[in-house]
Amino acid sequence: MQTDRRIPARSELDGLGVYAPGKPIEEVQRELGLDRIIKLASNENPFKSSSVVYDAVAAEMERVALYPESTAPALAEKLGKHWGVEPERVFVGNGSDEIIGLLTRAYVRPLDEVVMADPTFSRYETNVCIEGGKPVKVPVQDGMHDLDAMLNAINERTRMVFVCNPNNPTGTIVGEQALADFIHRVPRHILLIVDEAYYEYVTTSDYLQTVPLLERFPNLIILRTFSKIYGLAALRIGYGLMHPDIIQELMKVKGPFNTNRIAQAAAFAALDDQAFVDRCRQANAEGLSYLARTLAELGLSCYPSQANFVLVQVPRAGTDIAEALLRRGVIVRPGEQLGAPRTIRVTVGSAEDNAAFVSVLRAVL
Ligand SMILES: *Cc1c(COP(=O)(O)O)cnc(C)c1O
Repeated sequence: MQTDRRIPARSELDGLGVYAPGKPIEEVQRELGLDRIIKLASNENPFKSSSVVYDAVAAEMERVALYPESTAPALAEKLGKHWGVEPERVFVGNGSDEIIGLLTRAYVRPLDEVVMADPTFSRYETNVCIEGGKPVKVPVQDGMHDLDAMLNAINERTRMVFVCNPNNPTGTIVGEQALADFIHRVPRHILLIVDEAYYEYVTTSDYLQTVPLLERFPNLIILRTFSKIYGLAALRIGYGLMHPDIIQELMKVKGPFNTNRIAQAAAFAALDDQAFVDRCRQANAEGLSYLARTLAELGLSCYPSQANFVLVQVPRAGTDIAEALLRRGVIVRPGEQLGAPRTIRVTVGSAEDNAAFVSVLRAVL
């Protein structure tokens, strides 16, 4: 009689782990019995979301018995106006995470190659592997995408290229001219996905505005999200800007009601409060310079970040440091989980949280 009753799943899943998210505050509170926890582990907005979102969500509660509109047309139209693109180029997803998965679902065939940085956002690799594709990981240089090496990695099996800009987990961006050249040089039959989840946090002028390039480059896909600066991470809503032909393919593989009513209404309202976005960008920039300065005083270096987090080089395993910080009520992300050993990734919090983090870190070191 057979004892192993496990029903094998597709072999593509064999080597895959389960995504390790930053620990939720509730879980740490339960386990350690601490009452004040500071979470700087998932690049969430410490200033929550715009107050206009609360009213929009409350109003939409009237209609939760009804299915949402499948393609979020009102939001797509508003995003189109906001960015000066036709609404036919806007695809709204259940977080930009979903759009990454739909793109690989629709386009990556077994053994197709997909070029990406190392380290970069881990969902690219995972989704490519689920489809039986091959992630081709090109090491970053000083935390930055090595675009020349990525071009060299392109061959006849390449189907897709990811550029994460700013890059998670290093926080760095690629320079304006370097990315423009790269976009010109990637062959047009290869999908070029530029993930701009942290777009709104960028303050340097040496940053390529990709939206105006959409018309000239039908292989270009721009990913954005409401999870980061707009503070809607729990609602799961993001969007992609791309050629309508690509959207037609994504429509075939998406779930019928992929984004919910509450999220659509919240994102629609959030777009109106650009003053909130500006305040968050400003506070974040101040937090970044505070962290860079105080970490340097502790003898720690971090990559120059244009996002709402920094990747900090630490003298021992990141897992050790993160564990010690956790016991003192500060949750950060060990770099070992992100492909960056001997680092921790720390989200920029409120000024108060940043100061608390630095003093706890000082004690831990
Ligand atoms: C957070 C993040 C996302 C995912 O955002 P959601 O819209 O919440 O799914 C995508 N890409 C990068 C690089 C991120 O850091």
